[in-house]
Amino acid sequence: MISERMGPLVENNSAIRTMFEEGKRMAKIYGAEQVYDFSLGNPNVPAPKEVRQAILDVLDEEPSTFVHGYMNNAGFEDVREAIALSLNQRFGTNFHQNNILMTVGAASGMNVILKTLLNPEDQVIVFAPYFLEYNAYVRNYDGRLVIVPPDTRDFQPNLQEFEKRITEKTKAVIINTPNNPTGVVYSRETLEKIGEILKKKQEEYGGAIVLISDEPYRELAYDGVSVPFVTKFYDNTVVCYSYSKSLSLPGERIGYLLIPDELTDSSQVFGAASIANRVLGCVNAPSLMQRVIKRCLNAAVNVEAYDRNRNLLYRSLTEYGFCCIKPQGAFYLFVESPEEDEKKLCEVCKKYHILVVPGSSFACPGYVRISYCVSYEQIKRSLPAFRKVAEEYKL
Ligand code: PLP
Repeated sequence: MISERMGPLVENNSAIRTMFEEGKRMAKIYGAEQVYDFSLGNPNVPAPKEVRQAILDVLDEEPSTFVHGYMNNAGFEDVREAIALSLNQRFGTNFHQNNILMTVGAASGMNVILKTLLNPEDQVIVFAPYFLEYNAYVRNYDGRLVIVPPDTRDFQPNLQEFEKRITEKTKAVIINTPNNPTGVVYSRETLEKIGEILKKKQEEYGGAIVLISDEPYRELAYDGVSVPFVTKFYDNTVVCYSYSKSLSLPGERIGYLLIPDELTDSSQVFGAASIANRVLGCVNAPSLMQRVIKRCLNAAVNVEAYDRNRNLLYRSLTEYGFCCIKPQGAFYLFVESPEEDEKKLCEVCKKYHILVVPGSSFACPGYVRISYCVSYEQIKRSLPAFRKVAEEYKL
């Protein structure tokens, strides 16, 4: 009954989800406290109190038919203007409401912009390791994903391999910084070089190549690291932002696309993206959440809680002999597997009730992803189990 396109998606149903089910099953057998589930990227830090207050205030102060009504497919004008001004204040940019298109989170933002841009067989370049959902997003519009292999020394994008893979069929390049699954923040130098390479290739092939910066983790950065603002390095940039992690609202489905004036055919792209939002069935981003976001532009989750988790986990795992680079952002640790087949490491971890995700789920075998958006207590309780895994490998 189901379509041919859905068949493979059903079969490959994300390893992360399968793991989630496994976590629930194990919790029933051993008790929730004895299972250390590091598999999902579901924020455990609560949404800031401003969000709750804003929901109440919107419902009390704004007319119900307005709050719950349809609006422009791009979103409420005043909300978009407020976001543009807030970006301008933070990054010294010059955006306005017609650069901001409200979306149903980053997943939807990515689909909207890919639907807007791609013709069948257009190529979209991604840097491994990457969020594997991009495969489905690109395939939704008959695009072809082209994968740049990782530079495992520091997990900055491998620019030599990148340049080799750009062709006249390249329509877009997706980056994600701070990165899921490595936690790496792409440096200013990396972004400058990506911009230079793309400018050169655009001239060579005579068509626009759009850099799509997927940024759900922008606000989660540590050690005073600043996440460079990507539109500064290359004109043909679209930013896909989400409040799922920055305000811990993943179930509320709210984010935006930033389509700057500098983008080739910017207003045409903006108009088409608004229509893509409609015809993909979103119609518009959730209206109550749009109203809430306008009131919460200066709110933030407690990033220190993630930082504390990061430090404890990184310090402990490296002390036990595991190798990994210290992440500067997001809430993931990408740990090198002591044996080549990292799925076997996942099995060994499972023996000690630890759930982690194989790197092959991010097109980067030989590593595992540990999500530390869990309680500090869970991390503390899990440490003896991690130590046993290290001992089993004689690290
Ligand atoms: N992009 C990346 C890299 C992610 O890690 C996620 C979620 O984990 C998303 C996009 C989707 O985020 P959203 O909840 O805003 O759709």
